[in-house]
Amino acid sequence: RPLNVAIMGLGGYGTMVANAMRACKKAKLNGVISGTPSKISDWQTRYRIPEKNCYNYDNFDNIASNPDIDAVYVITPNGLHKDQVIRVAKAGKHVICEKPMAVNAKEGQEMVDACKKANVKLLVGYRMHFEPKTLEIIRLRKAGELGKIMFFQGLSGFTIGDPKQWRLNKALAGGGSLMDIGIYAVNGARYMVGEEPVWVTAEETKTDPVKFAEGVDETIQFQFGFPSGAIASCLSSYNISYLDRFFLSGDKGFGELYPATGYGPIMGRTNKGELSFLHVTHQTVQMEEMADIILNGKTPIVPVDGEEAVKDLKIMDAIYLAAKTGKKIPLK
Ligand code: NAD
Repeated sequence: RPLNVAIMGLGGYGTMVANAMRACKKAKLNGVISGTPSKISDWQTRYRIPEKNCYNYDNFDNIASNPDIDAVYVITPNGLHKDQVIRVAKAGKHVICEKPMAVNAKEGQEMVDACKKANVKLLVGYRMHFEPKTLEIIRLRKAGELGKIMFFQGLSGFTIGDPKQWRLNKALAGGGSLMDIGIYAVNGARYMVGEEPVWVTAEETKTDPVKFAEGVDETIQFQFGFPSGAIASCLSSYNISYLDRFFLSGDKGFGELYPATGYGPIMGRTNKGELSFLHVTHQTVQMEEMADIILNGKTPIVPVDGEEAVKDLKIMDAIYLAAKTGKKIPLK
């Protein structure tokens, strides 16, 4: 049988995942958790979800006794993930959580520990980890085709609209652009270079302190150093358009993705020419692969588990600290 999934948080991205799951064979949308009754009835009709698989934020612990739900996909504002994921784990269901998994590494580790204790899997919605052109550049780098890796550039940003949205609310978002979009450059630097950074420096720029309040970063530039001597230079912004580019440079070749992390199609090339893999709907492939990881213990090429997310969160904590203190922050 497929992996039966309940989505928690029926907003913009939840809807995108639900629509993408229509094409899945190994995963099935079979339940919802929402605070809005009208959305629940709408989703029941649209996705044929039985009444007994519908929950709200007060009663979703009862999912523990529902054999028709195997996993809950948490797609709510970032600041709510920790408590919601821990509640799902306590109900004995596997958890898929959207990025950023938590608002700092300490909370992320608590989530990892809670899932371990409950003996459930914790996966994070890192959809690029299954994207063919991304994986091809990783394959070429691992095969030595790019030579010794010297440099990565990750540009991640867009111009954010409505100043009242939760993404600009520190309590719900956990920060600003870095939490939401800069995380792609952080995560991308690690999977493109294939190493963990050993130091971080960062500088923050704020042109609009009203829209981007204290603790909500508008633009952050950050740099990493890796054990091999490779370096990374990245930019995260809520106020610069068309920022979605990864560039990996080695002494024998390069890989470029632009756009690198949008919903697609991803465009990519190397020193040898264009990458011509067919576009796949990221969320469909992600859910097929996650069903295999949860049900059959499949190991993904790039990890998508809670520990992987904590690695990103530790680096993001260090970026914020570096931006605040102006110091170079060493990472273990
Ligand atoms: P959204 O605002 O469109 O939806 C959020 C949903 O959470 C809404 O249905 C809202 O009603 C619900 N919600 C529950 N409690 C809430 C509360 N206290 N305050 C506000 N909303 C509450 O946001 P979204 O774009 O769907 O983002 C949700 C999560 O998905 C975020 O963590 C975001 O980073 C992530 N996301 C990931 C991707 C990706 O490509 N992987 C893309 C977009 C969003």
